[in-house]
Amino acid sequence: MILFTKLYDRILSEKGKSRVLLQTYFGDIRDCYSKVIAMPFDGIGLDFVEGQKTLEIVKNFGFFEDKTLFAGIVNGKNIWRNNYSNTVNLIRELGKYWKSVVLSTSCSLLHVPFTLKNESNLSDAYKKHLAFAEEKLTELSELKRILSNSDPESTTEYRENEKLFNELRNCGNANVQAALSALSQDDFIRHPDFEEREKIQKAEFNLPLLPTTTIGSFPQTADVKANRSNYKKGKISFEQYVAFNKGKISEWIALQEKIGLDVLVHGEFERNDMVEYFGENLDGFLFTEKAWVQSYGTRCVKPPIVWGDISRSKPMTIDYSVYAQSLTSKYVKGMLTGPVTILNWSFPREDISLKDCAFQIALAIRDEVLDLEASGIKVIQIDEAALREKLPLRKSDWHSEYLDWAIPAFRLVHSGVKPETQIHTHMCYSEFADIIKDIDDMDADVITFEAARSDLSIVKTLKECGFKTEVGPGVYDIHSPRIPSVSEIKEALLKMLDEIPKEKLWVNPDCGLKTRGNEETIPSLENLVIAAKEIRKSLSV
Ligand code: GLN
Ligand code: ZN
Repeated sequence: MILFTKLYDRILSEKGKSRVLLQTYFGDIRDCYSKVIAMPFDGIGLDFVEGQKTLEIVKNFGFFEDKTLFAGIVNGKNIWRNNYSNTVNLIRELGKYWKSVVLSTSCSLLHVPFTLKNESNLSDAYKKHLAFAEEKLTELSELKRILSNSDPESTTEYRENEKLFNELRNCGNANVQAALSALSQDDFIRHPDFEEREKIQKAEFNLPLLPTTTIGSFPQTADVKANRSNYKKGKISFEQYVAFNKGKISEWIALQEKIGLDVLVHGEFERNDMVEYFGENLDGFLFTEKAWVQSYGTRCVKPPIVWGDISRSKPMTIDYSVYAQSLTSKYVKGMLTGPVTILNWSFPREDISLKDCAFQIALAIRDEVLDLEASGIKVIQIDEAALREKLPLRKSDWHSEYLDWAIPAFRLVHSGVKPETQIHTHMCYSEFADIIKDIDDMDADVITFEAARSDLSIVKTLKECGFKTEVGPGVYDIHSPRIPSVSEIKEALLKMLDEIPKEKLWVNPDCGLKTRGNEETIPSLENLVIAAKEIRKSLSV
């Protein structure tokens, strides 16, 4: 706040005739509000959607005649229609504290898709509940018209909106709700505890020291993508589509055996995206055709929409996993995406809590885990690539608002498996020093994560906090086409072994290989296996 005051005092002292609006978003500004409001800003933008305390702090500070409030009342991050009745009441309330109020979105519209206009596959029954960027602007102008009427509740727009929100949205599933309310503490605890399981699994799997594995996907080469798109366009039959994928699986199982990896994967050739694939196979999601949003840089994603209660009506990954396992005597990992990542990379519902929604997804993925186990899959990886993404801005809210349900959601997915079934998880980053206890609390047996680009600093932290979970910090960066040499992989492993007991260390790349080509993937994995074998030898002397 000292820096803020210093900077803005200077900006405001030189504003001359210009008017300055301070725009805030992604939450309330709590403790800073009293200072900000005392400064000569002409307007202040506050977020009334994510800012849980915004209204309360506004109420505490009296009336402002000379400043304008830019009230963020239309959600800039989610895709649901605005509830006009709530908004009209809120604006009336705000009128008691601010003479001049501007209606605004809660943040920039970068986070929502452009327009609903081109979504021809979605029926109106769904679309009427949605508002993308263009529709949000319409909402703002409708709200303006409504609020400038002496009797807002009598306007057509208001009444139509009220009708929409009074309508039953037909999104509930009684079985899911019953399963959710039947959950007890024990459903979140895996038995026996980690140490016991680790012993059982060491005996069961009999893997070498420093077991080698990959994160799941293999290169999505042009033929893999063509197979998926031909099937989607109806150019090939389901049988042809599956036969191609099985061919790829068998090719890559043979390759992995030849390279000498210890724990294999099927390669994820059937998946477009790790969230979209599960969204499409679960009940309760809606899919758009053109609703892209920026993920980072030029990379865009098309997040599924959580429409209703989530359930699994059929197995989603069993066939390919069982097929892959049938081709080899080595262990093949079953490969799933975890509930927190599925939720964080979708547009969530607003009529139930994120916690309830995460638990619903967890129950659905749990069924898949149990089916994989029953089908003979002994190692199951549940990816939580996006676990860290929705940590609240304020550290003080991390547990109460997020981790206290996100970690249990993950535990719910795997708590039902046998002690000798090994649960892996994967995260795309290693900046988790500040939530390291929570990561350990996920109670997975093995976690793999990105470490190649962050100079292994996390490894020290793991030791300091007595991290129990076995770990596979990525030994090379898959985001670059560079082929890592045997000696540099060995060097990375030796550094890791300074801090991590050899019984707990796994050897793997730092993420899935789907964006790489075969020409760099195969030699990189060959080097990885040679490096692991050489270090292994030196450890056993
Ligand atoms: N299993 C996934 C893959 O290998 C994980 C992807 C990710 O971490 N983003 O592609
Ligand atoms: Zn990753």
